[in-house]
Amino acid sequence: MPNGQNNIVERERGFDTVLIANRGEIALRILKACKDLGLKTVMVCSQADRQASYGALADTFLCIGPASSGKSYLNKDAILLAARLTGAGAVHPGYGFLSENAAFSKAVEEAGMVFIGPTAQSIATMGDKIAAKSAMIAAGVPCVPGPDSELPDDHAAVEAIASQIGYPVIVKAAGGGGGRGMRVVPDAGVLHESVAVTREEARQAFGSPALYMEKFLQHPRHIEIQVLCDVHGNAVWLGHRDCSMQRRHQKVIEEAPAPGIAPDVIGPVAQACVKACLQIGYRGIGTFEFLYEDGGFYFIEMNTRLQVEHPVTEMTSGIDIVQAQIKAAQGIPLGMIQNDVMTEGHALECRINAEDPITFLASAGMITDLALPSGPGIRVDTHVHAGYKVSPYYDSLIGKVIAHAPSRAEAIVMMRAALAETKIEGISTNLPLLRMLFDDEGFATGGTDIHYLEKWLKRRS
Ligand code: ADP
Repeated sequence: MPNGQNNIVERERGFDTVLIANRGEIALRILKACKDLGLKTVMVCSQADRQASYGALADTFLCIGPASSGKSYLNKDAILLAARLTGAGAVHPGYGFLSENAAFSKAVEEAGMVFIGPTAQSIATMGDKIAAKSAMIAAGVPCVPGPDSELPDDHAAVEAIASQIGYPVIVKAAGGGGGRGMRVVPDAGVLHESVAVTREEARQAFGSPALYMEKFLQHPRHIEIQVLCDVHGNAVWLGHRDCSMQRRHQKVIEEAPAPGIAPDVIGPVAQACVKACLQIGYRGIGTFEFLYEDGGFYFIEMNTRLQVEHPVTEMTSGIDIVQAQIKAAQGIPLGMIQNDVMTEGHALECRINAEDPITFLASAGMITDLALPSGPGIRVDTHVHAGYKVSPYYDSLIGKVIAHAPSRAEAIVMMRAALAETKIEGISTNLPLLRMLFDDEGFATGGTDIHYLEKWLKRRS
């Protein structure tokens, strides 16, 4: 916030030890960024991750609780205690877990440490989808048609809003997340029932019955814009990504830039995102997610954290996003303006999940043999190795393969070779599915919508 900025700058200067409150590939990625910046690291883990070999790379490796996330990676008190005991000056939350928890950001800062992420207030604003939509409208960011206000209780008023937007509409929980707490309403006949059921779900799942309504877009793509801000009123965007290849709202393949979108179409939208950041006093990195349909962009949410797919933007922009995030938290000015941001070539990322490629059931157990791809333009972000035991307790993501080439077509060829080179034995992974997708004509053409993968899977079942 502009009013509290001086305080923030003061507090954010000069930490030399970062506690990494996460696990797996992203914990290792953050650890490397810290090391490259000459910072000391404290890695916390659950009992299930005690054997994780990346722990030995940290200056301090500390077990903070049992396997269950609620008692370890989501345990604010245990993490704060670990930070105090080890003299950490900052906490990096990674993604997932406590990364978008406003209370945690506040608790870290109240304990005199730096939260490597935005202020609690920014997190709270963006976590409330109605407040986020209002802030975006105020900054001129294009949003999905529909009011930026809570849906009233009154039936007639709800009907009026729906018919003004035009069916189909979607009813969404203001406090929703993870693709939950939303319902498509095809016509007026099921409107009241849909609102009532979603309201009850919202009350139970998110502790608030607040709902809002917007137009349901039927064949959108998922396009997002990466921003980077310091605490001195400087902000830039680092390019855009297409993450339309999804299953159950989970991204499977991501790429930068989004194919087929002209710079003069995305430019003004990205500039509006940058303006929104400055208006809300945003700091650090963030992602504006949009649905893109028939040439129009429609804001759906802002992620106030590092994202799984950040590497594709790192490859095309040449900017280390995690280092930039840490430096912003230290109060270091960006030292660049928008014209300094150059993007080059095309990057693709495949998420490697420990799961059955057909049933998608999570697969745990020991990796008995592992071969990873390498060579110019290929990057692998992973914490696993032969002999690593994939735990059943956490997310199934075990690594990411990234390919960067001058053009999208060349990046696809490179990724095909990289996936062929990759061998993971002892557990099931989605590698066979990824290999098939990279032979798919629709994907090769580019610009497929967010329903493409699910339809593709149905055709093959
Ligand atoms: P969450 O915070 O739960 O991820 P989002 O608002 O980002 O919720 O929406 C999740 C997904 O739901 C989107 O990626 C998209 O697939 C779908 N969705 C959300 N809003 C709309 C809409 N207005 N029209 C069509 N699909 C939507």
